[in-house]
Amino acid sequence: MAPRLILGKEVSEEIYSELRERIASLKEKGVTPGLAVILVGDDPASQVYVRKKGEMCESLGMRSLTVRMPAETTQEELLAKVRQLNEDPTIHGFLVQLPLPSHLDERSVIESISPAKDVDCFHPENVGRMLIGEPSFLPATPAGVQQMLVRSGIETKGKHVVVVGRSNIVGKPMAALMIQKGVGANSTVTVVHSATENLPSITRQADILVVAMGRPRFVTADRGKEGAVVIDVGTNRIEDPTHPKGSRLVGDVDFDAVSQKVSAITPVPGGVGPMTICMLMANAVRAAEIATEGER
Ligand code: NDP
Repeated sequence: MAPRLILGKEVSEEIYSELRERIASLKEKGVTPGLAVILVGDDPASQVYVRKKGEMCESLGMRSLTVRMPAETTQEELLAKVRQLNEDPTIHGFLVQLPLPSHLDERSVIESISPAKDVDCFHPENVGRMLIGEPSFLPATPAGVQQMLVRSGIETKGKHVVVVGRSNIVGKPMAALMIQKGVGANSTVTVVHSATENLPSITRQADILVVAMGRPRFVTADRGKEGAVVIDVGTNRIEDPTHPKGSRLVGDVDFDAVSQKVSAITPVPGGVGPMTICMLMANAVRAAEIATEGER
């Protein structure tokens, strides 16, 4: 039987309609949620992401600010801009688009962002709050994956979730979310990475397999369990002369083969992709609610 496709566009539309209602009630109180993005340099992929974030803000009726800084911006200049946004009452949340040019120190930039405005959830205070189960914000991509599971009615309680990858942006926070007590979590979690021995024997035990490696089509059919749910976070551009652009996007999962044996799967593109911006918007709305209503 064909597996069920979990589509980020559908799940995100549901969340956007809830966000529109929350934005409307903030506006009734005279508050328009404001999200800013600082973009340093002219990395083409970053430009696309930043443009999409701005467009989404505007389509939701939020205030959007893009601060463009040249590639040769100094650490001090960037920190001064961060301090300015920390103080700006019309901006409820902001982020510094990564990666930064190599002469800039990402860690100290992230740590200079006010935790109350850190909508990427990269500040150590917010990472810690998430880990102890008292989050202000949730990291966008892992929270997006969790929402896909919850809103698709996939039971996570007691299930074995195997996360492939341990990055600070996806793998580690994904594991941290799924071990929490509560809806959409309560799972038994294993994290595997490049030093893991006999990785296929572990991924084959997964009821829910979340893959975030950046290795095109690494997860083949023999690495997954019959009937599993597979969430493919990977986004890899591979050459394909048959494609009009000469290249196309593929995930970390060999979709054609793996989809033959699983119960549900996310495609690439169209799967997890749309969820990241959606959850960023959710964090920006939450930041505005916290600033307005004072709850934390
Ligand atoms: P990183 O490169 O930071 O991390 C990759 C992880 O995969 C590492 O932990 C690495 O292990 C592990 N890994 C790599 N190769 C192997 C291997 N052969 N066997 C076992 N583990 C391996 O990537 P990210 O987490 O930032 O991103 C992962 C993928 O997700 C990328 O394709 C990225 O483009 C995509 N992505 C998509 C998003 C979306 O919105 N859809 C958002 C963010 C990312 P080790 O730590 O040991 O090196």
